[in-house]
Amino acid sequence: MSLIVTGTIGIDTVETPSGETREDILGGSCAYFSAAAQHHGKVNMVAAVGDDFPQEYRDTLDGFANIDRQGLEIRSGSKTFRWGGKYHDNMDHRDTTFTDLNVLEEAPPAVPDEYKDAQYVFLANGHPAVQLGMLEQLPNRKLAVADTMDLWINIALDDLKILVSKVDGLVLNFDEAQLLTGHQNTVAAAKHILDMGPSFVVVKKGEHGCLFVMRDNEGIGIGSLPAYPAEKVIDPTGAGDSFAGGMMGYLAHDHGGEPDFTLDRLKAALAHGTVMASFTIETFSLERLASISTADLAERFDEFARMLRVH
Ligand code: AMP
Repeated sequence: MSLIVTGTIGIDTVETPSGETREDILGGSCAYFSAAAQHHGKVNMVAAVGDDFPQEYRDTLDGFANIDRQGLEIRSGSKTFRWGGKYHDNMDHRDTTFTDLNVLEEAPPAVPDEYKDAQYVFLANGHPAVQLGMLEQLPNRKLAVADTMDLWINIALDDLKILVSKVDGLVLNFDEAQLLTGHQNTVAAAKHILDMGPSFVVVKKGEHGCLFVMRDNEGIGIGSLPAYPAEKVIDPTGAGDSFAGGMMGYLAHDHGGEPDFTLDRLKAALAHGTVMASFTIETFSLERLASISTADLAERFDEFARMLRVH
């Protein structure tokens, strides 16, 4: 099944509590998502960067065997999206130190014709109007899922509400679910978002895992998963995007035959996402996602599955 993602490819500056700062490293929601999802199979990316985007980072993306970057537009005269984040001591919270939207304020990138029959669609963090534009160009989609964050809730709420009413699933952080709904309770916030249109909602809670709700013919099912208990956390940036990449990569590629999309299947996909995120946070940027092997992933997935089992 074909998988397509749109989102940001950015240049990040990240400050961690250890005092270590990395400037101008490769990041962006689409980059992390793709680097994770491609461990399950091919992913087609649609994004735009400026002509300041370093050759070194184009080479990094080319190094991921299953990322197709035909849809990555390098726009002359434009500047690449830039973002800065500073983590608090517990690594679970961060402040955005700056956001330079740059190319994101211009026309969105085009979807190549070859990508237009996509069945699995992920609208990674980006302007909701761009996410909507992408959705409208993909009439054969079977499962469309979006992510969002505080910036878009604050500056583009109307577009975001339209988007949420049109996707099958929404993935967002707990703080963002609170901001969007006004609910302090995770279950109440997730159910409130279900009422906005999607058939499932995943609320990410950092080191506390995730909660998910799904509506089907029988009502609303609820589930939750812990995070993988990681001992080594260097840089949590991209954890959410690679969580989504692991989840969507699994759904698009590892389940052939199109079984029904059930709460259990979503749970399995989220477990794969959890494992992927646990690797991302071990290093800065996409470094760990570039080095993990199929065996590393399988081993950690088995370990995580053992931890989840209750006898
Ligand atoms: P995550 O840690 O999963 O939330 O993802 C962090 C990545 O998202 C960073 O690499 C940033 O470049 C990118 N990012 C930060 N803010 C935004 C935003 N408002 N829209 C899209 N991408 C963003």
